[in-house]
Amino acid sequence: MVLFPVLINIPPPMLVDDTADRSYWKDHGGNLQHFHSSQAWDSLRVRNDKVDWVDAVWFSQCIPRHSFHVWLVIRNKLKTQDRMSIGEAGSATNLALMCCPLCAYDRDSRDHLFFQCAYASEVWKTVRDWVDMGNVNNTWDSVMGWLVNSANTRHLGGVVCKILVGAATYYIWQERNNRLFSRLQRSPDILSQVILSSVRLKLMGFRIMKHPDHMKIMDRWQISKKNLTEDPG
Ligand SMILES: [Zn+2]
Repeated sequence: MVLFPVLINIPPPMLVDDTADRSYWKDHGGNLQHFHSSQAWDSLRVRNDKVDWVDAVWFSQCIPRHSFHVWLVIRNKLKTQDRMSIGEAGSATNLALMCCPLCAYDRDSRDHLFFQCAYASEVWKTVRDWVDMGNVNNTWDSVMGWLVNSANTRHLGGVVCKILVGAATYYIWQERNNRLFSRLQRSPDILSQVILSSVRLKLMGFRIMKHPDHMKIMDRWQISKKNLTEDPG
């Protein structure tokens, strides 16, 4: 029995005398390349259509661990209480007794935590006031709608919004886990400051062109304008 008939159909290599043997890797497009593990991964990986929110999550100024977290949120892959089975909860009674550690009301879920929960909603409203997202309400649908519409934005204001969404989801999830697995608790006001500090710290590292819009944003975040540059670098 022939297990791999495709191997039989591969023509034997042409041997050229006086020439050293070399191995090549045929990439996804059928081009011969020198072998790199990155090429092998790119050829073998499962391919799906590009999603319309990819640039809202992965962009050059993003905070990678926050972006990875937003990716989990969008895919609804966080282990929230609504996605736990009876086995994971310990018993059906445990599952029935579960409630959101932030507001102690209702079971937590992606849509509850981001940001309809009374605690998360307060945090979201506080941090949202720092950016131009006033028309985005506390539902994940609304946030997601903004992310899709503004995914490709290169304007500083839009980039700050994307960083803010990442930081807000990351720290709300961190607070939820702190309360679940330890006794640490921060008020909505303190958590909002943690989120804003993280965005501000990121902004401080930016090299930004001098432009009235940029000056306004730097003023808003109380960042020295020494970061502003004349050249587009
Ligand atoms: Zn809640």
